[in-house]
Amino acid sequence: MNKLVCLIPALCITACATAPAPAGGPSVPLINSAGHVIGTIAASQATDGVAFRIHAMGLPPGVHGIHVHPVGRCDPPDFSTAGTHWNPTNKQHGLNNPNGPHAGDMPNVTVDTNGAIDATVGLPHANMAQLLDADGSSVMIHANADDYVSQPAGNSGAKIACAVIGPPAK
Ligand code: ZN
Repeated sequence: MNKLVCLIPALCITACATAPAPAGGPSVPLINSAGHVIGTIAASQATDGVAFRIHAMGLPPGVHGIHVHPVGRCDPPDFSTAGTHWNPTNKQHGLNNPNGPHAGDMPNVTVDTNGAIDATVGLPHANMAQLLDADGSSVMIHANADDYVSQPAGNSGAKIACAVIGPPAK
């Protein structure tokens, strides 16, 4: 139903803002590099990992890398204070890398031709407690697609949108 609602851009923000949060976590704002709120991400515990429900508008159409970063900070414009990809097991980047992946690596997401996205992405083998550690964590959308093999971030380019999961760093 949300998918249908979000085909109508004028209704999407309202639908996103009032949609009930899934069990496990509230909707948190997704901000762009200008610091504007462009949507929400809600993290929830699933049986095989953590699921991120994403609603947003105003993104560049196309395929984008999306990763979990280890610090719960979204400081525009470059979001560098969120750190590199969440990597507690010291692996290399890439879902298709035999020496990977980072624990924070996730499948690419697609933004439609209107600049909207309504999608759920999964972070296998993770749990909410890991993400909600002392400095929290963040979910980052990149300018380009992740090629799933290149170091250090799959040639996914600049960080263009960020959401804080858990408490912000002090
Ligand atoms: Zn990575």
